[in-house]
Parts: sequence; structure tokens; C-alpha cells
Amino acid sequence: MKVEILGVGIDNLTLDEALDRAAALVEEGSFHYVVTPNPEFLQRAKADPAFRRVLNGAGLSLADGVGVTYAAKILGRPLKGKVPGIDFAARLMDWMAAGGRRLFLLGAKPGVAEQAARLLQAAHPGLIICGAHDGYFQDSPAVAAEIRAARADVAFVCLGAPKQELWMAQYGPETGVKLAVGLGGSLDVFAGVVERAPEGWQRMGMEWLYRLLKEPRRIGRMAKLPLVLVDAAGDRIRGRQP
Ligand code: UDP
Repeated sequence: MKVEILGVGIDNLTLDEALDRAAALVEEGSFHYVVTPNPEFLQRAKADPAFRRVLNGAGLSLADGVGVTYAAKILGRPLKGKVPGIDFAARLMDWMAAGGRRLFLLGAKPGVAEQAARLLQAAHPGLIICGAHDGYFQDSPAVAAEIRAARADVAFVCLGAPKQELWMAQYGPETGVKLAVGLGGSLDVFAGVVERAPEGWQRMGMEWLYRLLKEPRRIGRMAKLPLVLVDAAGDRIRGRQP
């Protein structure tokens, strides 16, 4: 069941349930894509109907962090919890490794996807990474053809939002993958270029603060969190949500 938050549908799932759904989508065989909305997505979607449509066209829409779960709570429609895209990706790779599924990594600066591939293959024994490409390309059809030629089952598309979502919706079907997953800066984390918050911070829902302390220039982007909460409260008061 999807919960609508400021016009964007979010699947109300635990991480385990999200993984089961993703596995079913891969097995089903047609093309689907996964989005991982955070407050910045919700703010952008409000002003950008094309982005909102693409988000709502996803086969799976995961609450990437506490900003989205707080907004849901304020709306009186609490979610089971957050499902950070990067945790979902890690579990999906374990499932892929066990089943011999093929993964393509798309995104980040030149060399990062290849480095992530090496580390991920070591971390998930048996994982087949069938190709990698940086995220600074001009020729999208050529990149889609490269993914198709690699016979990938799943692609991680890490171009930042909204570029990755628009790319998945437009070019995803051409890639031949069954599942494309939009994962923002995850390849930088997998490659060890960017450090993720320690687990204690993640458990407390403070990952955003850790990231802000590491990268203070993100303050403008992170200011979207309180804006989304105020919007959610406004919708609640106006009775727009059941
Ligand atoms: N990126 C890319 N192509 C672009 C723009 C960005 O591959 O044209 C990559 C960028 O190198 C980074 C990721 O997309 O690895 C976006 O990271 P960001 O931290 O902005 O994403 P978030 O995790 O916050 O969504």
C-alpha cells in the first residue's frame, strides 16, 4: 500500500518487504524502476509535475530517510519505517549474488563506479558486476545500449535527483534491465570516496546531521527537511490527507 506524502506515493514497507517486492519485480521480467524520495525530492516534486509523475510511476518508492517518515507521521499516516536506498541496495546485492543476477553500475565521477565494483564484489561474494560507466555522459542511447549489451538484470543509476529518475523513466526500458534503482551518491559511498555516518547515528535518525557536519555546503539542500514538515502540517490542517 502506498502512502501519499505531498503528492508523492511512498510504499509503506519494511526493508525486508521492500526486498521481497524488488525480487518479485526482477523475476516478473518487464522493466520497473525504484525511487528513494527524501525531503528534497518532495519539495522539488511540488513545483515540478514532470518529476512528480516520474516518481509516481515507480514500481517501488522507498522512504529514504527520517525526513519522509516524520512528514508521514505529521500527516497522520505513519510509515513502518525508513528504508534507506543504500541499505536496500546492499540487501538487493546479497540476493543477486545468491541467484547469479547481473548488476550494472551507472554514475559518479570517472573511475568511481569501477572502484565501487571491485569493493562490492569483495563484499558480496558471487556478485556479478557486468559493467560500469561514469555519470558524466552526453549520449544516453549509447549508454543504454552498453547496459543492454552487458545483459544486466539490475542497474544502479546514481546521477543525483532528478536526473537519475528522469533517465530511468526515459531510457530504462532501452537498457533491457528488469529493475533500475536510483541511488544518488551511493556509488561514492560504495567506492569509499564518501564516508557514511556510523551506525549509531543512523539508528538515531541523525545520518543527515552527520552528513551536514562533513559537508556543510549541503545546508541549503537540507533546509528542505523543515519545509517539507511545515507543508505536511499544512496539508493535515487543511484536511487534504485522510
Ligand atoms: N552525478 C553524476 N552525473 C551528473 C551529476 C551527478 O553521476 O550529471 C553523480 C555525482 O557524482 C554523485 C551523485 O551523482 O556521485 C549525486 O550525489 P548527491 O550526493 O548529490 O546525491 P544524493 O545522495 O544526495 O541524492
